[in-house]
Formats: sequence, C-alpha cells, structure tokens
Amino acid sequence: MTMLSVGGTRAWIDRFADAAEDQFDSLTDLDRLVGDGDFGMNLRTGLRSAVQRLRSDPPTSPGEVFARTSDAFLDIGGTSGPLLGLWFGRIGAVSGVEVTATDLASALGAATAAVQRLGNAQVGHKTMVDAMVPATSALTEAAVSGATLSAALNSAATAARLGAESTRAMLARRGRAAYVGEHARGVEDPGASAIAMFFAASSYKSVP
Ligand code: ADP
Ligand code: MG
Ligand code: MG
Repeated sequence: MTMLSVGGTRAWIDRFADAAEDQFDSLTDLDRLVGDGDFGMNLRTGLRSAVQRLRSDPPTSPGEVFARTSDAFLDIGGTSGPLLGLWFGRIGAVSGVEVTATDLASALGAATAAVQRLGNAQVGHKTMVDAMVPATSALTEAAVSGATLSAALNSAATAARLGAESTRAMLARRGRAAYVGEHARGVEDPGASAIAMFFAASSYKSVP
C-alpha cells in the first residue's frame, strides 16, 4: 500500500474498534491499577460511536474518517476523550482522497504536538504521549526515506509499542496515575497502550 484511501482508512478504524473490544478487560485492569478503571470503557464507547457515525454519515476521504472519529471522542468524558478527539481532529486535517506517508506524517506531527500542548505532557510523563511521539517520529523518518505507507505505518506501530512498554518503568507526572506514585511503577500506561493498538490496527497483519 502506497496511499491511504477512504475505504482503507475506514477498515483501519474498524480494526482499531475491534481491538478495543478485544482488549477491553486488559485496558480496564491497567486503568484500575493507575487510575479509576474507566479507560477501557471510554475507548470502547468512543470507537463504537465512531463506527456508528461512519455508517450513518459515510465519509468521502481519509480526512473525513478521522474527523468522524474525532467527533466521537469529543463526546466522551474523562481525560482521554478530549485528548483523542483533538488528536484525531488534527490527523483529520489531512487533505485529498489518496493520502501518502508524507501527508500522514505531517498531519500526525501537528496532531501529536497539539495533544502535548493541551495536556502539557512530555515523553517520560507516562501518558499516551509516550507512544504518540515515537510513532510520529518513526512515520516521519520512514516517509522522508521514501518508504511505502505500509512500511512507514509498520515502523510507527513498532515504535508505538516500544513507547508504550517504556511507560512501565516510569512514575507518572500527568493524569490520575500521578497520584498513585510508586504504585504506577511496573504498569503500562493504558492510554499509551491504546495508541500502540491504533498503529497496530493500520495493518491487516495480526495485532502483536
Ligand atoms: P481519567 O483519568 O479522566 O479517567 P481516562 O481513563 O479516560 O482519564 O484516560 C487516562 C489516560 O489519559 C492515561 O492513561 C494517559 O495516557 C492519558 N492522560 C492523562 N493525562 C494526560 C495528559 N496530561 N496528557 C496526555 N495524556 C494524558
Ligand atoms: Mg480513567
Ligand atoms: Mg475517569
């Protein structure tokens, strides 16, 4: 795959929604350990709503797929709803009916920067940003080196998974996990885990 089409983008969000159903229990458990236990529910509700919106108001471009997903998350409470709503909204600014790795990398760069500004979070604070930043860099580097979109998304998926795993060793500096101190050590941040799921869902291959 060298370009992302509207159908390909919808299939990506559908696979992400399926992964949120599959991982509901494990995401819930992670947020029970470091937060209030509602992250699995927030993600699943947001993605069920996104899938529903894509059915009732069919998108005509990849940007519109991400924009519908954004609208769905903006209706969800919690900390993750507004942050994911903003992230998908900025990704949705990507224009055209066929999106290249370069187009996606630049939209993703703006999206991740916007989340960092809103949440005031840096890499190392044990949040979704710890997966977003390395995934964005990997996608950008792959695009610059002329990789196909599939290859670029695969490197983003690997980087996001490593980023999510890196949060285990961290003490949280943002979000509810910051209140539990040492209890958060050893636990993967659920938001970072979800971002890794999103990039893994870009590929038809089995989710790692
Ligand atoms: P709440 O704590 O309000 O219940 P959620 O459970 O919906 O929020 O989302 C928790 C996730 O939000 C965390 O796992 C983390 O990834 C992310 N998060 C929390 N605070 C921030 C922040 N300031 N910046 C970026 N991400 C954050
Ligand atoms: Mg929570
Ligand atoms: Mg909550």
